[in-house]
Amino acid sequence: MVMSSLNTLAIKTENKFRSLVTKRAYARGEVICDIPTEKVVDQPNRFTVQIDRNKHTDVGKLAALNHSCDPNVILDTANLSVYAAKDIEEGEELSFFYPATEWEMDAPFICLCGSSSCIHVVAGARFLPLSTLENHFLNKHIREHMIELLNNTELHLKKMQDA
Ligand SMILES: [Zn+2]
Repeated sequence: MVMSSLNTLAIKTENKFRSLVTKRAYARGEVICDIPTEKVVDQPNRFTVQIDRNKHTDVGKLAALNHSCDPNVILDTANLSVYAAKDIEEGEELSFFYPATEWEMDAPFICLCGSSSCIHVVAGARFLPLSTLENHFLNKHIREHMIELLNNTELHLKKMQDA
């Protein structure tokens, strides 16, 4: 049995900036906790993670997870689990790549993570080129949104040609 629980995670507040740190080490691939689904809404907000095309779940404590363009955790919405994307040390801040779950974010922001692969504007997968997205783990609903956008664009181009 996998022992995974939110008890291993702590919210740290520094200069009003919240972050989520782990009280124990994790090996790459290890499950850290489940994604809570007690409260699912149809619109995104600052406390939700998108888990399906029109489903956003209030993640409670996990809302303190910051974005990183070089993240150490992955939110897998098919299995509703959070797992380590790399080896993580005790006391390390946890972060994930927001566009891996978010198609269109409620509150976009500028990323200052300093990673060489920084996307700068974090607004959701919809606003990123395929060449950037393909370097990341993407959840199924994000792939579905991408296919829909592509199909709509092709349809639009065809209409323009036919006109
Ligand atoms: Zn960044």
